[in-house]
Amino acid sequence: AIYLDYNASSPIDERVLDTMIDIYKNYPGNPDSRTHDFGKNTRTILEEGRKKVGNLLNVQSNEVFFTSGATESNNIAVLGLKEYALRVKKNHIITTSVEHKAILETMKHLENDGFIIDYVNPNQDGEIDVNQIKNLITDKTLLVSIMHVNNETGVIFPVEEIGELLDSTDVLFHIDATQSAGKLVPELKKIKYDMLTLSSHKLAGPQGIGALILRRKNYELPPIKAIMFGGEQEGGIRPGTVPTALVAGFGKACELAEQEYEGNFKQLKECQNAILKLLGDSTIKYSIHGNIEHLIPNTLNIAFEGINSEALMILTKEFCGISNGSACNSKNYKGSYVLESMGLNQSEIASSVRISWGPHTNLKVLKEEFARLLDVAKNLQ
Ligand code: PMP
Repeated sequence: AIYLDYNASSPIDERVLDTMIDIYKNYPGNPDSRTHDFGKNTRTILEEGRKKVGNLLNVQSNEVFFTSGATESNNIAVLGLKEYALRVKKNHIITTSVEHKAILETMKHLENDGFIIDYVNPNQDGEIDVNQIKNLITDKTLLVSIMHVNNETGVIFPVEEIGELLDSTDVLFHIDATQSAGKLVPELKKIKYDMLTLSSHKLAGPQGIGALILRRKNYELPPIKAIMFGGEQEGGIRPGTVPTALVAGFGKACELAEQEYEGNFKQLKECQNAILKLLGDSTIKYSIHGNIEHLIPNTLNIAFEGINSEALMILTKEFCGISNGSACNSKNYKGSYVLESMGLNQSEIASSVRISWGPHTNLKVLKEEFARLLDVAKNLQ
């Protein structure tokens, strides 16, 4: 069997797990305790983790704020601006219609508070046009929030260009880099932004930890306020005891991603090419959502003509862990809103599956199991 749902959650790297076990065993104590060495030692581990997360993005440790994951980071990045928005009398936000629900639902909440949100649609290939964003900016625009890579299609969005566009303005720029961090390593180091969301479990780290990166411009943080109250941790932006072992694991995962991304990238691309070759060599009728040149190499969203994705998933679930969209919406699944925004019709949407893999995916097993999946699909077609 093969797990091909890395975009939902990637397996933890064993070296990350070893790091965490050591911390759980040998570092009791609250990192904020100041009356004994247990606290101090734990604090040292926490700060080492913070440094490693910062290194992956080429930012300072004091720009890294730990959260419980990307959902919380996105919430803080958007809702945390409310007070500032009132003060500077700006109520306009630009985002896209294909963001993760952690952004879309948060935006809906702000709409109820009187904010005006523009949702830019992608084209048929799932791509976002920078000019469309540019043309929407007014003197009331507070924020542009966009993901770096779409979790369902793997399409890479033009965040570098948007960063350049906004750099000289007072419009804040937030990137949800959940699906790109650890994969597009050099790219992320040079992009200009004010806020950036990370999630550990998408890059072989543990679940339950993430970060919001807040860039300091002239030493000043973006005007973010806490959305929860209770403690001074994480600069007061995210109160609550920071889970040291999770941070250490997240830090280790970032360190490994930094050291190994070139080999990993090659491996991801090889897997993608192998899947494309198997598809091309078979007689099956299919199409890929997105232009291959603009896709991250660990994802393919494939429509199998005339096949119901639910049927395919049921018939293959014992040997292939694939999905038809974000796990976060799977309880009340009504078909992918991402594919719908790209202008696909209901039958195209119903026939689409998302396949995503990682650096530890075994190429040989992948080929075998994907060929088996294709056999099942052919019988359905
Ligand atoms: N943003 C994106 C783009 C995602 O893919 C996900 C995970 N599906 C999230 C946010 C939410 O991440 P987390 O599970 O860390 O809250």
